[in-house]
Amino acid sequence: MSKPIIIVVGGGAAGLLAAGKAAENGAKVIILEKMKRPARKLVITGKGRCNITNLTNLDEFLPHFGRTSKFMRPAFNALFNTELKNFLYNLGLEMVDERGGRVFTKSGKASDVLKVLLAWLKKLDVEILTSTPAKSLVIENEKVIGVKTAERTFFADAVILSTGGASYPATGSSGDSYLFAQSVGHKIIPIHPALVPFDVLNYETINSLNELHLRNVNCQLFIDGKKKSDAFGELEFHETGVTGPIVLNLSFTIVAALKEGKKVNLQVDFKPALDSEKLHTRLLRDIAERGKESLESMLRGLLPSQLVTICVIQNEINGKKLANTLTQKERKKVVHWLKHFMIEIDKPRPFEEAIVTAGGVNTREINPNTMESKLVQDLFMAGEMLDVQADTGGFNLQAAFSTGWLAGISAAQKFA
Ligand SMILES: Cc1cc2nc3c(=O)[nH]c(=O)nc-3n(C[C@H](O)[C@H](O)[C@H](O)COP(=O)(O)OP(=O)(O)OC[C@H]3O[C@@H](n4cnc5c(N)ncnc54)[C@H](O)[C@@H]3O)c2cc1C
Repeated sequence: MSKPIIIVVGGGAAGLLAAGKAAENGAKVIILEKMKRPARKLVITGKGRCNITNLTNLDEFLPHFGRTSKFMRPAFNALFNTELKNFLYNLGLEMVDERGGRVFTKSGKASDVLKVLLAWLKKLDVEILTSTPAKSLVIENEKVIGVKTAERTFFADAVILSTGGASYPATGSSGDSYLFAQSVGHKIIPIHPALVPFDVLNYETINSLNELHLRNVNCQLFIDGKKKSDAFGELEFHETGVTGPIVLNLSFTIVAALKEGKKVNLQVDFKPALDSEKLHTRLLRDIAERGKESLESMLRGLLPSQLVTICVIQNEINGKKLANTLTQKERKKVVHWLKHFMIEIDKPRPFEEAIVTAGGVNTREINPNTMESKLVQDLFMAGEMLDVQADTGGFNLQAAFSTGWLAGISAAQKFA
């Protein structure tokens, strides 16, 4: 009996796993990839180190997917974090477990993940056609029977769509997914950039902070003046705003609030380990020890120099004056400023800078046990094109790998 033919459209994290699993389950698999090389996004993940997954247990993992957590359960039952680690380890990838359960490549090279996956696919005779963008799906009697490219039609028993979201379009994921899905009747939950940096309203104040990276700060998120959440960790500044893990993880809430026209502020506490009283005492100690230095020079013991400049400007204190001439009122102002630095959020940066796309193919129209479309027979979908997204920490790649894995097995087994 001849092997069933499965076309995988999109050779990213989801598509590569879908292809390999379909081949392992008896299919002849061809990947159509638009870019010159597959998985351009995978190789830049985790700042080039690839945060592959997160070792949190399933009950804590699922809530990271919010309202789509129920949908994701069967995919994670098919392939979860330790199975993914074992799978990659058996392919020859060494990994390290880091803070917060995050798993990275041991080599620090995301490209090593791609290397082992490509070697695996080669052994399985999966054909990867690069520079081959799919243009449309071929449908007959509510059943997919192939994929058209500019040059030809690839007929298939099943098609797995794994063409990604709309973020970082330079990596190939420029939103084609939504056109394919819509063209066959699927609903798209409106998309918007997620895990995204923000521009701020008072950026003239902070543009001197460009590329400043702060660790161990606390941020409180205020929406229309009401405190919504607290986050501790790393905050980064870019030319016109803020980014870094704290901001990215708050970004779902911030984007939603901005869409509703609400006012969003981040209040930064630069010294969360010290309450105001202790911070005041620390300031007095510094003045006692370094009072003959200028205020700016003394404050550099507490803060990065770019922040010192802003501190003295915003508090209208002459930074050149001797630290021991600081009045009690000025000391109080400085302490208050250190614990209540206010940033007014303006708007999210565009898709080009978003780590993931929120929204996508409505998961109600996908069978969670197989990843097959409920509208079009033999059409499977996986990865970020679905309305599935989580915060940072390795959750999004695990989702792409797991849904791809499940789609590959299901598509091939349908014809076994
Ligand atoms: C800078 C950055 C860092 C990230 N770091 C992490 C991290 O460390 N950990 C984590 O969990 N997540 C991370 N993510 C998110 C993660 O990379 C994505 O969620 C994941 O790659 C989605 O996989 P995917 O296979 O669904 O889509 P993609 O990886 O986007 O792959 C889609 C593929 O489809 C191809 N394609 C698109 N249209 C067509 C077409 N018409 N025809 C043929 N091919 C097509 C594209 O070229 C691409 O190769 C990061 C994202 C970014 C942008």
